[in-house]
Amino acid sequence: MNYKDYYAVLGVPKGAPEKDIKSAYRRLARKWHPDANPGNAKAAEEKFKEISEAYEVLGDGDKRRKYDALGSDWQQAARQAEQQRRYRTQQGATQFDFNFGPNAGTGASGFSDFFDMFFSGVGRRGPAGPTPAATRGQDMETTIELSLHDIFEGGKKSISLQLEDSCPRCRGTGTENGRLCAACHGTGHTLTSKKFEVSIPRGIGDGQRIRLTGQGGAGTGGAPNGDLFLIVKTSEDARYKRKGDDLYVDLPVDLYDLVLGAEVHVPTMGGNVTMTIPEGTQNNRLLRLSGKGMPHVKGGGSGDQYVRLIGQLPQNLTDKERKLFRDLKNLRNGKK
Ligand SMILES: [Zn+2]
Repeated sequence: MNYKDYYAVLGVPKGAPEKDIKSAYRRLARKWHPDANPGNAKAAEEKFKEISEAYEVLGDGDKRRKYDALGSDWQQAARQAEQQRRYRTQQGATQFDFNFGPNAGTGASGFSDFFDMFFSGVGRRGPAGPTPAATRGQDMETTIELSLHDIFEGGKKSISLQLEDSCPRCRGTGTENGRLCAACHGTGHTLTSKKFEVSIPRGIGDGQRIRLTGQGGAGTGGAPNGDLFLIVKTSEDARYKRKGDDLYVDLPVDLYDLVLGAEVHVPTMGGNVTMTIPEGTQNNRLLRLSGKGMPHVKGGGSGDQYVRLIGQLPQNLTDKERKLFRDLKNLRNGKK
């Protein structure tokens, strides 16, 4: 990000009165208007944008005061503002990186990133500027970490997120008595913790989004707020692995249950169920429990649960057991 010398852009001294700034802007805007430069439209448009950006700041009392206050401290202020863009949940476990919609990086204003960092959303346009159009607030997105159980159960869950809000101390202007606001470092925004009741669709998949309508950035001029999108990240589960809507679990079973067959209890997301192991089942075999997987997020029904049987061999045999196994082996091999 580079510092913008708006006074130099308009060719006026730092203490220039408002009317000089206005007339400089008008003269330059006429000169560099793309319509007036058909042979050089691209360069003229860049120049015109630069002039507009400078006037957007210097032509507005609040913004100009803030710009003057930034002065040589602007880099430190920018660093502090940047740090505010890292967010954590109150539990401190998950990091939230906000991305302010599809225009992130380029700046929703269409001006420089210097302008976006300090002046977008600050103050009001001067009376000479055109009336700002009603603009829908920006969409925001963040990740939300959910356990497999949260997703299986679905329904309402209360979460808190740290969100950017207009700074209450300077009322979003970024300055206080001609100096940078100490609370927001001149950005005009602060973080506030906000609680949301989130409706979790049963079975929602990793990477899918939950929309909170109207909880994104504030709209201006009576336009609606943007939306907040929560991107689901499923936390690792010690027992279950999810593939699509199917679940996989490992189940340790006795050698005898594999050899002779058995009824065993198997954990599923919906509670324990009884499963039949057929006689002579091979080790590591996958058995399917139909409909015991994750709910399909659309269309009803559920995936399946696959149970991998992990045979446990007896250890620390007693003399008697050892003899019986040997007898069994001999019997199998046709010896007496
Ligand atoms: Zn402030």
